[in-house]
Amino acid sequence: MRIDLHTHSDRSDGTTPPRDVVLAARAAGLDVLALTDHDTAEGWAEAAEAAHEHGVVLVPGMEISCRFAGRSAHLLAYLPDPSYPPLAAALDRILAGRDERTPHVCAKLRALGIPITEEMVARVSVDAVALGRPHIADALVELGVVRDRDEAFDRYLSAGRPGYVERYAVELEEMVGLVRDAGGVSVLAHPWGRHSNAALQLDGVARLAQAGLLGLEVDHQDHDPRQRAALRGIAAELDLVVTGSSDFHGAGKADHDLGCNTTDPAQLERLLGAAEAAAAGSGRNVPEVVHP
Ligand code: AMP
Ligand code: ZN
Ligand code: FE
Ligand code: FE
Repeated sequence: MRIDLHTHSDRSDGTTPPRDVVLAARAAGLDVLALTDHDTAEGWAEAAEAAHEHGVVLVPGMEISCRFAGRSAHLLAYLPDPSYPPLAAALDRILAGRDERTPHVCAKLRALGIPITEEMVARVSVDAVALGRPHIADALVELGVVRDRDEAFDRYLSAGRPGYVERYAVELEEMVGLVRDAGGVSVLAHPWGRHSNAALQLDGVARLAQAGLLGLEVDHQDHDPRQRAALRGIAAELDLVVTGSSDFHGAGKADHDLGCNTTDPAQLERLLGAAEAAAAGSGRNVPEVVHP
């Protein structure tokens, strides 16, 4: 059984529609797929329909923009009720922060002599609900300023580069609680990834676990073998679920092919069991896992 618990569609910064992510998962020989767009459940319905048609188990999820110790951190939330008012309000605020950031980034880039406009960014991100730096990168590619998203981040968009602008995010510990109250479970995405947070060591993760964090995404392309071993050790010590995934973004991210990392079936079972308990405890109307 092959299980990939972290993927993006064009509702955020992936490059293919939710339906095509499911089809690609099928073609890649995956049995279970989680769609986890940034800060939105917008792709769930289309993905669920495709999963049903094409014989893939779909776990609805999202990757939520958070902050820990003043730096960005991503939280994977599986099976929460996205209409739970406090969670819905937090997601709305994050999405608004994404929209508000774009004109500021464009203005900074124009000050560098690059003739980019918000309209160009809007054109390359038609189906996206969560507007991100990758869309600004795509506009820069169209303008011929850079070759690909990677170069756009390296030269302009990453923290510390001249086009960088911060945006709104929620404190990680608070979001872990919100996800739990919304009837879902949470897994820390790529804790030590390139764009993440070395501040997240054993004591920090222990605090999050106390707040209700269920698991750690250990097997991710951003983690080297040494980091994976250390994270596995933390997970064992705190009795956390261990996941693995591709963080697929379609053509938007090289070396993140579907199924390049996978989750052990016993770990998925634990995750789904915990999600069921969270749903029952919350009384929320949570989404269902789609079984074909
Ligand atoms: P944002 O959500 O707007 O803050 O942008 C962050 C997103 O950009 C993350 O989800 C990453 O997947 C993506 N990203 C970060 N660095 C790169 C890169 N070098 N190439 C392509 N995508 C990237
Ligand atoms: Zn992304
Ligand atoms: Fe991420
Ligand atoms: Fe991601």
